Amino acid sequence: AAPLVVAVSTAISAKKGLLIRNRANFEGARNLNAVVFDKTGTLTKGEFGVTDIIPNEGYSEKEILKLAASLEQNSEHPIAKGIVKATKDKGVQLGKVTDFESITGKGIQGTVNGKTVNVVSPGYVNSHNLTYDQRLFNKMSEEGKTVVFVLLEDRLIGMIALADMVRETAKEAIATLKEKGIHTIMLTGDNNKVANWVAGQLGIDEVYAEVLPDDKANQVKKIQDKGWKVAMTGDGVNDAPALATADLGIAIGAGTDVAMETADIVLVKSNPNDVIASMDLSRKTYRKMV
Ligand code: ADP
Ligand code: MG
Repeated sequence: AAPLVVAVSTAISAKKGLLIRNRANFEGARNLNAVVFDKTGTLTKGEFGVTDIIPNEGYSEKEILKLAASLEQNSEHPIAKGIVKATKDKGVQLGKVTDFESITGKGIQGTVNGKTVNVVSPGYVNSHNLTYDQRLFNKMSEEGKTVVFVLLEDRLIGMIALADMVRETAKEAIATLKEKGIHTIMLTGDNNKVANWVAGQLGIDEVYAEVLPDDKANQVKKIQDKGWKVAMTGDGVNDAPALATADLGIAIGAGTDVAMETADIVLVKSNPNDVIASMDLSRKTYRKMV
C-alpha cells in the first residue's frame, strides 16, 4: 500500500485540479530545473482570430478567405478554427472539398471546386521558393501574428494573419519559475518571429521555433543531454511524444486526448501556474518520506 502522505497528497492534488497519472515521475518533479512549454494552446489561449487578409493582385479578400476556409473545415488546428470562424462574420459560402490532406507541421492541401489549394506555413513557402511581400510579413510577425499563405494551383495568391492571446496565467507562471531559478524554454512549430514576440511578452529564457512535430521529442532529448531535468507542458497531438520523452510530461486539460493519455500529470484547469503547484506538491509529499 502507498504510504499515508502519498494518499493524502492524491486527495489534495485532485482538489487542486492536478490529475496525477504517473506516481514515479511525479515523485521526480521535485528535482526538475527546467520547464519546456509548447506555445499555441499552452502559453497562449489557442483561440486564433483573423486580423488581416492580404490578397495578391487579381484576388479579393473574400476569395482568399473562401478558398482557405473551405479546406480548413477539415482541420482541427486552432488556425483552422480561426479561419472558419471568420467566414461566419463575412457571410462567405464555402466550396466543395475533395482529396483533403494535412502536411504535418506545415499546413494543409486539397481540391476546392476542382482546383488545388494549399494553406501553409512560411517554412513551406520558403522551401518552395515562392515570393511574397517580405516587409509586410515581417511587420505582422513581429507584432506576434501568425501568418499563413494561400496557394492556388501552386501559385501564392494571398496571406492571412491571425492573432492568439497570451494567457495572463502564463505570465505569472514564468515569473514564478524564474524566481525559483528554474530555466524556462518555449518549443513551437510556429514562425521564429512570432515565437520571439510571445517569449518577449512572457520573459521566457530560451526559444526553439519552427520545430516540426516529429522533432519536438528530439528537441526535449537535446535539452536533457545538456544536463537539464525537464518538464514538458503541451496540449496537442504533436506534443505527445515530447511529453513522453520529458522527465515529467504535463498536459493542459483543455488539450487533446492524446496529450492527456501520454502525460504524467494533467492540469484540469488549464492553468500554467499549476506546473509550479505540481512541483511544490511533489516536494512537500516526498520530503516527508525516506
Ligand atoms: P504548434 O507548435 O504551434 O502547435 P504546429 O506544429 O501545429 O504548431 O503547426 C506549425 C505551423 O504549421 C503553423 O504555425 C502553421 O504555419 C502551419 N499549419 C499547421 N496546421 C495548419 C492548418 N490547418 N492551416 C494552416 N497552417 C497550418
Ligand atoms: Mg499546441
